[in-house]
Amino acid sequence: MTEKPIIAPPADRSAWLEARPACLEPPGATPRHPFRLVLLGPPGVGKGTQAARISAWLGACPLSTGDVFRHAKATETTCCSPAMTKALEKMSRGELVDDAIVLDLIRERTTCLRCGFGFCLDGFPRTVEQARRLDVLLAELNRPLHAAVDFTLPREKLLRRLSGRRTCPKCRRGYHLETSPPRREDHCDDCGEVLQIREDDRPEAVAVRLEAYAATADPLLAYYEASGRLIRIEAEKSPEAVFRRTVRTLRARFKEAPPEPWKQSET
Ligand code: AMP
Repeated sequence: MTEKPIIAPPADRSAWLEARPACLEPPGATPRHPFRLVLLGPPGVGKGTQAARISAWLGACPLSTGDVFRHAKATETTCCSPAMTKALEKMSRGELVDDAIVLDLIRERTTCLRCGFGFCLDGFPRTVEQARRLDVLLAELNRPLHAAVDFTLPREKLLRRLSGRRTCPKCRRGYHLETSPPRREDHCDDCGEVLQIREDDRPEAVAVRLEAYAATADPLLAYYEASGRLIRIEAEKSPEAVFRRTVRTLRARFKEAPPEPWKQSET
């Protein structure tokens, strides 16, 4: 598939991470396919990788609730309310954070959801309650969701992917010991920092996360299926192949009624 280059993507993720104001429509940039998407699927399926690719395709910032919590954790001593401190304890154990806290966090970031380039949410919603509240919020903003993309992978492959993940604590670059190892063992290619295992990728937390996913996934998938917005993508192949399949599927599904600016600029 030939893709035109992406035009001036908005990339101020600090607005998302810290709930600060951000530009809605960067001057001179034209959104080409402003889909509003949520990404679903178990931990380890590659949602973060796909979120980065899909967001670049949209020209929007990748928006991850897990990243908001990890960012809060990194600045814990200066930033955190008692509620956030409790949320971070849950995250460290691999448990889901309470809906009320996650929903407050989303509401504080509506600027990003109104982005003219669309959005791609990674890690939210995780429960039917979160999905319902997101729909209400998006209806208020007049920006309804186009699709929920569910990535699937067998459990043994999920465990392999999770156990090999490493992250640079300084620049946040991600590696995988099998599929994208660093050039020098255990060190970041870009900044030389010693790589870390994410706290919630440790085996005891992984088991809790997979259980939490299994407990909430079916009703959430049913919620989106019932409203005709569920798209299932099998995620065994390479990240690039999975990305291409996702784009192809979205284009096919929205052929008759693509998101507005896409319709104008793709002709
Ligand atoms: P992730 O990077 O999406 O796997 O998220 C890391 C952790 O952040 C999860 O294991 C939860 O503890 C917390 N978290 C992120 N998003 C949510 C959410 N939508 N609902 C509840 N907890 C969340």
